[in-house]
Parts: sequence; structure tokens; C-alpha cells
Amino acid sequence: MSEQNLLRTEGLHVFYGKSHILHGVSLEVNRGEVVCLLGRNGAGKTTTIKGIMGLAARAQGSVTIAGKRAERLPPHGVARLGVGYVPEGRKIFPHLTVEENLAVPVGRPGRWNLNEIYKFFPRLHERRRHPGGMLSGGEQEMLAVGRALITNPDLFIMDEPSQGLAPKIVQEIYGLIRDMVQEGQAVLLAEQNAFMALEVSSRAYVIDNGRIVFDGAAGELLADRERVRALAGASI
Ligand code: ATP
Repeated sequence: MSEQNLLRTEGLHVFYGKSHILHGVSLEVNRGEVVCLLGRNGAGKTTTIKGIMGLAARAQGSVTIAGKRAERLPPHGVARLGVGYVPEGRKIFPHLTVEENLAVPVGRPGRWNLNEIYKFFPRLHERRRHPGGMLSGGEQEMLAVGRALITNPDLFIMDEPSQGLAPKIVQEIYGLIRDMVQEGQAVLLAEQNAFMALEVSSRAYVIDNGRIVFDGAAGELLADRERVRALAGASI
């Protein structure tokens, strides 16, 4: 494994109770890369991310983050290794204010602090005293992104950032992902919105029924839309 390697899963198996959901998923993300994880509804994208984060029990296989074995770590242990996580459905604290949501206990010093987050998202600054639950879907996504960025992660993991948002807001969120890419931030992006994700990614994985069925350059899939539809069920 090179020093460039930020995340590697090898042969990861995850069960929910007795249901065997992930059947040996191997993937990796290197420094400066944006990698997308595509797949139809229920294919196993969220389960893969939960397996990486320690939010689902890993039954077998390894998770390595920045050279350190992580498959036995709880979520805060994974976060401490430099992983920022934006969950599906944002999961912000609805009764805490924006500013309280941004007061994250883990993390390290770096480019991102409260001031920088407010500069990057002026809307969050305007809304800083509002409860998270009063924000629009797009603002909540910004808050979830800000909450992960403020930990100054080496690797940023986003689960379906476009889900449930109006197209204009999705464009805004993807503009933000592009800005992060320009700054060299490594990102793992799970998306059902395959074409949108492929446009910002350098590499792609497609998962189906808990198994990786494609692993290659994002450009290879972008050049073959029919294949994306067949593999990932993408409708656009
Ligand atoms: P989506 O876009 O719908 O989130 P996904 O690719 O992220 O799809 P997962 O959420 O990882 O898919 O789900 C993979 C499989 O695991 C599905 O068959 C789903 O029904 C099942 N599953 C997910 N969560 C649980 C759970 N808590 N208990 C049991 N089965 C689950």
C-alpha cells in the first residue's frame, strides 16, 4: 500500500442480523481522488459506507485508513483517522442551532474552522442561530457538509448528497464538490444519480447485490451511457 492510499477495503462482508448484504467488497481511494460508488436502489452503497464508518458490523474483511487497520474501530475512531462523513438524509441535530451543529468534538486544526465554513457557506452564517430542523433541505445538506469539513478530514465520504433536493440545490452541492476537488480533497461519493457523480469523479465503482460489478475510469462509463443504465439502473 502506498502513502497515497487513504482508504482500502478488502473483501468486506456486512450482515444486518441474518441478512448477508455485502459479499466481499474491495475498493480504494487515493489522495486527491474523487471516486464514486454507484448502484441501483438497495444495491449496497449505504451499507458499504456504514461498513467503512463502523456503523454496521463488519463480519469479515479489512478496512484500512491512511495505513491503519480500522475494521474494529467504532465511528468516532474512524473519524479520528481523518474521515469526514456526510450521511444519507444529512442527520443533523434538528433542535440544535446551526452553530451548535458545527461544534464538533473530533477533528484537527487545518484550513477549515468556523469562520472559513461561514465564508464558504454565507447562508449558514445568516442562519447560524436557527435550529437545524428549520433549515431547507439544501441548507441542511450544507450544514452536514460543513460539519464534516470542519474536522479537516483527509477523506470526505458523502452518501447520496443529491437525494431529495431540488435540481438547483443539487447543482449548488455539486459546485461545492467541484471546489473541493480543485483543492485536492479526496472524496468517496455514493450516488444513485450516476451521471452527475461521474462528471466530478476520476474513478468509479458500481455495486450490485452487495458485489462490485465495475471498477474503472469514470470516463469509461460516461462514454457508454447504456452500460451505466444496465449496471447502475441510472435513469438519466
Ligand atoms: P439506497 O439508494 O436505497 O440507499 P443502497 O445502495 O444504499 O440503496 P443499502 O441501503 O446499502 O442500499 O441497502 C442494501 C440492502 O440492505 C437492501 O436490500 C436493503 O433492503 C438492506 N438493508 C439496508 N438496511 C438494512 C437494515 N437496517 N436491516 C436489514 N436490511 C437492511
